[in-house]
Amino acid sequence: MKEKLHFNSQTIHGGQHPDKAYGAVMPPIYQTSTYAQTTPGGHQGFEYSRTHNPTRKALENSLASIEGGNFGFAFGSGLAAMDAVLKLLQPGDEIISTNDLYGGSYRLFTKIFEGFGLKFHFVGMEDTANISRCITSNTKLIWVETPTNPMMNIIDIQAVAKIAKTHKILLAVDNTFASSYLQQPLTLGADIVMHSATKYLAGHSDVVLGALVVNDTDLAERIGFIQNASGAICGPMDSFLTLRGIKTLHVRMQRHCENAREIAHFLKNNPKIENVFWPGFEEHPNHQIAKSQMHDFGGMLSFVTKGGDYKAAIKIVERLQLFTLAESLGGVESLAGHPASMTHASIPKAEREKSGVVDALIRLSVGIEDVRDLIADLEQAIG
Ligand SMILES: *Cc1c(COP(=O)(O)O)cnc(C)c1O
Repeated sequence: MKEKLHFNSQTIHGGQHPDKAYGAVMPPIYQTSTYAQTTPGGHQGFEYSRTHNPTRKALENSLASIEGGNFGFAFGSGLAAMDAVLKLLQPGDEIISTNDLYGGSYRLFTKIFEGFGLKFHFVGMEDTANISRCITSNTKLIWVETPTNPMMNIIDIQAVAKIAKTHKILLAVDNTFASSYLQQPLTLGADIVMHSATKYLAGHSDVVLGALVVNDTDLAERIGFIQNASGAICGPMDSFLTLRGIKTLHVRMQRHCENAREIAHFLKNNPKIENVFWPGFEEHPNHQIAKSQMHDFGGMLSFVTKGGDYKAAIKIVERLQLFTLAESLGGVESLAGHPASMTHASIPKAEREKSGVVDALIRLSVGIEDVRDLIADLEQAIG
């Protein structure tokens, strides 16, 4: 019965059972490293907490459920989850990645894994021909981030999945920006879905955690092996907080989307604003794909002011009062960021500007406050 639930029930019940010891409805925080055995190997499924922990297991079951997948894995951060995916590869393997992607992902690819002999191609994936052009017999992974950060481009997951299947290449999708509420990449043909659960899944800016979900049993075995062998797991307390966050994901996301929609239109109608990047606009170049693969348009948007430059953007983000100037996104509170100097500072300026991340760009993670207060704050900051 539980597996057939609608999404808004899966967030609460998916893969969950009352705890075996006392029937606790929320899984206890099993703050233990090890488990008593009656005889060597005589245990109840848990031996050592790097390998398995009941609180983490409850979270991993929930993650699998909300992504419509069979196997969930939780890690110490989103980047630790990505690190585990890259360890599926061998020196000489090639990866094709979205060009407009999270700065930390770019840093992990280029500063760590290029050194271990992996080769990365960064391409604009709105045109899937750019992917096909880069495929060689060594291509083993396609890495997609959609909506992209911070330009809010939309990549057609089904179209990329078709290419990946034809060439027997693994397809991984970073689903952090959309969250499982808006889009479920496995159902669109992806092999691996990755989350920085730090963002919308946990949702309260109080935990750093990463996740992977897959369907295929062999792939799950390999990822489970890496998770245990490399050991980048999350602790029981953070697992608990993330599981608690997921239970309200659907209600939060609904409000994030409503508020972002109003703010996108407010900005668009403001004479001081040059451009607003939000996939819900009909004239957004990938609007139709967004409409077909996402349930709504999300809580993220970015914009540039008319004649804006580095200084003007800094002035606006400093003047904001209700929007907190901070890295990260996806929490209940609204955040503003200046990608060029913050999240994307690790990407060289020339590389950054090729994908539109200019000095004047401001990114908003629209929270779930009263939207009238958010608009008033933007109004006074833009001046
Ligand atoms: C934050 C983020 C990451 C990295 O996740 P951490 O939990 O910070 O390690 C990866 N991808 C995207 C899109 C992100 O926003």
